[in-house]
Amino acid sequence: MLEKSVESVKCLILGSGPAGLTAAIYAARADLKPVLYQGLQPGGQLTITTDVENFPGYPQGVNGPQMMEDIKNQALRFDADIRWGIATKADLSERPFKIWIDETHKILADTLIIATGASARWLGMESEQKFNGYGVSACATCDGFFYRGMDVAVIGGGDTACEEASYLSKLARKVYLIHRRDELRASKAMQNRIFKTPNIELVWDSVPQEILGDKTVKSIKLQNVKTGIYNELPVEGVFVAIGHKPNSELFVEQLNLDENGYIITEAGTTRTNIPGVFAAGDIQDHVYRQAVTAAASGCMAAIDAERWLASLDD
Ligand code: NDP
Repeated sequence: MLEKSVESVKCLILGSGPAGLTAAIYAARADLKPVLYQGLQPGGQLTITTDVENFPGYPQGVNGPQMMEDIKNQALRFDADIRWGIATKADLSERPFKIWIDETHKILADTLIIATGASARWLGMESEQKFNGYGVSACATCDGFFYRGMDVAVIGGGDTACEEASYLSKLARKVYLIHRRDELRASKAMQNRIFKTPNIELVWDSVPQEILGDKTVKSIKLQNVKTGIYNELPVEGVFVAIGHKPNSELFVEQLNLDENGYIITEAGTTRTNIPGVFAAGDIQDHVYRQAVTAAASGCMAAIDAERWLASLDD
């Protein structure tokens, strides 16, 4: 590793979703001079969503990327130092904590707020990887445009899958929503929207076996889990929407994680097992996973960090 520069900061925040940016707003206002690295997906998961209708304060709804831009601008207004860069290594064994950005820039942080969120999960088929970017996607908002007038499939039965199907129904000719059970997990409001959309067809009890094509996707092979019968649906796009995994790889064997890799925090706080290290947003929440709960825990993390730093002076 080529270490080119070293810097000391009072409060380092990793992640730029609602949790990280809200932590930055609070930390900046508390004069912790936070430095925030945006990570692999600046703005977080909301930048790949469409309308957000449940964040308080937006009676007409707001689109995800716009909301993230608004929160970022709010943090910048209080002089939060928001930077491009990815944390590539962490050493939390002693204070100050050491975090390497893009392998070459070493940060010595008095306190660390981890808000690195969660990323899309994949089905794990070889053909899914082969066609990634050539007909397979995990983001309808990013890629739906390419499938105007075509037939596409969405895999999953949660709110994300339904949201993706609903978005795609406005562009594609037909959308197959393929779910492994005979009942959707999504909220009732979302289900109603799906059932009312004429060009969305539910394909129940079906598990993808393979994605077929040559250079691009031509069809998806499914197996009905109840009958065992195989079926091939001609589609040109496959959108995988089966949930997320927490971005906690950097902290394995340093922080206490649960069996799915989510950081464990002390109930009612954002404290991890290492004093001075806090976790906020989806990286520590597999239950609520909402923008508003992520933002709230970002606020908690900044307050926890501020009080922890103050306690060192006592
Ligand atoms: P969920 O975990 O809620 O749903 C994942 C879906 O994928 C489930 O239906 C699951 O099936 C299915 N699935 C999982 N693994 C596989 C697999 N290997 N093969 C086939 N199917 C699989 O994730 P979401 O991303 O949909 O939602 C996450 C959270 O975010 C939820 O709390 C949701 O409410 C929230 N959300 C809210 C939105 C909004 O309010 N606008 C928009 C998007 C998300 P099964 O049901 O059988 O387990």
